[in-house]
Amino acid sequence: MAGRRQSSRLSKQTLSTVSEPKLKIKRELLSNYAYNDNQVHSASHVSESAQVIKHSRPKSTKANKSTNLAGPPNDWKTVYEVIKEYRKIALAPVDTMGCERLSEETVDEKTSRYQTLTSLMLSSQTKDAITAAAMRNLQLKIPGGLTLDNVIACDKDLLHECIKSVGFHTRKTDYIKATAAILKEKYNGDIPDTIEGLISLPGVGPKMGYLTLQCAWDKNIGIGVDVHVHRISNRLGWVKTVNGSPEDTRKACIAYFEALEAWLPKEYWKEINPLLVGFGQITCLPRGPRCNACPVNDLCPSAKLTSTIKKQRLSVTVQESLDDKSDTSKKVVKQEEATTDPLSW
Ligand code: SF4
Repeated sequence: MAGRRQSSRLSKQTLSTVSEPKLKIKRELLSNYAYNDNQVHSASHVSESAQVIKHSRPKSTKANKSTNLAGPPNDWKTVYEVIKEYRKIALAPVDTMGCERLSEETVDEKTSRYQTLTSLMLSSQTKDAITAAAMRNLQLKIPGGLTLDNVIACDKDLLHECIKSVGFHTRKTDYIKATAAILKEKYNGDIPDTIEGLISLPGVGPKMGYLTLQCAWDKNIGIGVDVHVHRISNRLGWVKTVNGSPEDTRKACIAYFEALEAWLPKEYWKEINPLLVGFGQITCLPRGPRCNACPVNDLCPSAKLTSTIKKQRLSVTVQESLDDKSDTSKKVVKQEEATTDPLSW
């Protein structure tokens, strides 16, 4: 008898110390954006909404296996908004050092656009902090500052010295020099305002082109899909291009379920890049994603919880089984709580 009481106490402790605080944080986080895809619930409906969110991914059936090909998962917007809320408190390097933030406030608009393009050219295969430091070097060390004319006049070795910490620095030095000459000659010293013009520049691909149009020209005509957006969109089941490239993930011209631009509403095209880049920097890492700490681990088809978390779940279940073998309904409810809670906050 005493053993059973002890077991019951342990069980309640396990549930309250492991599950409850995490659930509370999740509910707080969801209080502003508790989506049921087409409807925003008020804060007073948070707990119901949290339940909706936990169970909103439809189970795969014969019927919807075929219809899956016709669109993204039904819960994409719920997942998107939960990540968006999470990112408001979980800041990442891109939030302070993203390319759109690296041009100087004191320069004219033309120079600002040129600096934005330059920062994007530096950013490929390079961490945001390194790109930001290289941009600072260019702005401070090039005689007269980082302008198109000053880059044309600048000694190539000095240019290389400024950016030597970024990935592929030698090639990027050549690209920046060549691009500056083309901009002067063909674009009146400005940067192109078309995707065709931008991707014709040395070292500028579609991702950089669409981001440049959004950040420098305020033109929203395509999604900037980099490796983070590509990886996370595939892990979440939003696209099926895992064996393809970021460009496959973007392209509107390929099948509906395969590309973001084919179904993601246009108003999301600009914000999705910094949203998922930051999410990829701090949580959904390329290797070893932190699924235990992920706000959508109860909805993500690729979620992998660690053995510690599995053990926690198991211990709750086992304790409950020992606690009262005859009360099966109670056992099922407690198991449900333990397995559907976002365990790792
Ligand atoms: S559950 Fe894991 S794989 Fe899925 S989005 Fe979160 S961190 Fe990425």
